[in-house]
Amino acid sequence: MRVAVLGSTGSIGTSTLDVIAASAGRFEPWLLAARRSVATLLDQAHRFRPAWVVVGDPRAAADVGAGALPAGTRLAVGPEALDELVADPAVDRVVSAIVGAAGLRSTWAALEAGKTVALANKETLVTAGPLVTRLASRTGGAIVPVDSEHSAIHQALAAGAPDEVARLVLTASGGPFRGRPRESLATVTPEEALRHPTWSMGPKITIDSATMMNKALELVEARWLFGVPADKLAVLIHPQSIVHSLVEFIDGSVVAQLSPPDMRLPIQYALSYPRRIPGPARRLDFAQAFTLEFEPPDLDRFPALRLGHEAAGRGGTAGCVLNAANEEAVGRFLGGSLRFTDIADVCARVLDAHPFQADPGLDDVLRLDAWAREEVRAWN
Ligand code: NDP
Ligand code: MG
Repeated sequence: MRVAVLGSTGSIGTSTLDVIAASAGRFEPWLLAARRSVATLLDQAHRFRPAWVVVGDPRAAADVGAGALPAGTRLAVGPEALDELVADPAVDRVVSAIVGAAGLRSTWAALEAGKTVALANKETLVTAGPLVTRLASRTGGAIVPVDSEHSAIHQALAAGAPDEVARLVLTASGGPFRGRPRESLATVTPEEALRHPTWSMGPKITIDSATMMNKALELVEARWLFGVPADKLAVLIHPQSIVHSLVEFIDGSVVAQLSPPDMRLPIQYALSYPRRIPGPARRLDFAQAFTLEFEPPDLDRFPALRLGHEAAGRGGTAGCVLNAANEEAVGRFLGGSLRFTDIADVCARVLDAHPFQADPGLDDVLRLDAWAREEVRAWN
């Protein structure tokens, strides 16, 4: 199976290449794409010999010297080239692992071409969920989730029929500040927030985990991915990150998926689906005693979660505005010009103030994305 790996130099991208390397030739990377990490991309190209390497940023592409690529690998530059290549008939599956709203257009191009997308880029569904799912059903494209919670739900849903589902329960580790009082959160530094207790991930999603905005975005993601109303979505704190999510059926039975926190498993599941195959992900060791804890989330300490429930409930442009405001706010927090607790505050204000549309087109979504970013940049 020929795979296009979008965001190959990132955390999900490199885990994807681990899965591919362990697959004994079942998966073969046909295209590797990143924005500007040219040195890493060239290393990957020599190791995996893809047909194409795509560099998003034209200035960075200038660093690819003549003869730097292995024989048989070609270079393409910029987002238009990437849109065209993901639609190539040679591509069997697309791993969408570019971070942020920047991942939307290539995911869109892949679905428009009827591809099956292993979707890590949750921002695609948060920003344009109704449009993306409509597009996929028109073209025959499909989305298999990579996000561990949604992968778990995808797996657990196989235990019943759609009309037998009572609730989808997303687990959350609670991040590094689970036990901290709200007052002490204002002074959190980027270094503290970047230290996640159970998962090793890129910087943006690590901050989102600390604010619990990640779970907020995942509620919106789940709403569109599984087509369930917001009142059937719940969040449960589970510090060990072993139960990746649960589905409660109408008879009260709860079905969950368990495995150690290792993204290689949901990535591989999204590549091999509908089959399962052996792979490199860590396994639970039942010879060792271990404990699983669960507790309800504290919405006062983590107000971002409320915003997730709100955005999932309202639908329309709410997800897009929440996502864009958050992306910009995280950037400002990492740059030192916003406090940790300001992230959820500024997102709440921008969400409240935005001109809501219930059934937006792609243009509306892109316009509001830009508007929300501008609002956060100007906020002080
Ligand atoms: P990283 O920051 O580690 O990696 C991001 C990747 O995207 C890099 O390869 C980067 O290239 C590339 N990229 C960024 N912008 C562009 C662009 N404009 N054009 C082309 N490539 C671009 O992120 P993660 O791997 O952590 O996350 C990726 C996605 O997966 C996010 O949407 C995240 O929410 C989601 N996700 C991640 C999880 C995880 O465990 N990490 C878990 C669940 C979901 P370069 O190196 O050149 O900048
Ligand atoms: Mg997740």
